[in-house]
Amino acid sequence: MAEQQFLERVLFSEEQLAKRVSELGRQISADYRGKKPLFVGILRGCILFYADLIKNISVDCTLDFMCLSSYSGTGSTGHVRTMLDLRESIQGRHVVIVEDIVDTGLTMEYLMKQLKDRGAASIEICCLLDKPGNRKVEVTPKYIGFSIENEFVIGYGLDYNELYRNLPYIGVFKKQ
Ligand code: 5GP
Repeated sequence: MAEQQFLERVLFSEEQLAKRVSELGRQISADYRGKKPLFVGILRGCILFYADLIKNISVDCTLDFMCLSSYSGTGSTGHVRTMLDLRESIQGRHVVIVEDIVDTGLTMEYLMKQLKDRGAASIEICCLLDKPGNRKVEVTPKYIGFSIENEFVIGYGLDYNELYRNLPYIGVFKKQ
């Protein structure tokens, strides 16, 4: 991969990500002591963040995943669909949604509506990145890794047309 071809600049290095993710893990562990939270990863963008976050959770917890789809290229289509639903019931559970990035908020709004009537004891959102300047609907993640400007980013699980998820850092995508 010739990085200069697709990368404007590195936004968060591997070290910065590791430090912030471990802080989030410690904070969530403290907040959920004795509650056995269920971590719901939103595929596929969450994968690297989810794995690193879970390693920093020090309370008993269970894991599940959903796959939602709304993006094409560098823009949200606004039409969110569930491609894969949860295997576990969330009845009575303390749910922590683990998302890569909250942008317009449409995906999280859709997900909250989907999960609302399933009887969870609580539902909170943990996102690695937040783009508050681009919100179209009100969504308030409780745990946020970093707030960023309205730029399209790649790496550490985030893709452009399914590429670049494997980069260990997060960078600003260079438009061709
Ligand atoms: P929202 O519904 O909040 O607009 O967008 C949520 C989803 O859009 C995220 O889960 C992510 O998959 C995708 N997304 C939003 N902003 C970016 C971005 O800057 N880069 C990448 N790769 N995906 C993004």
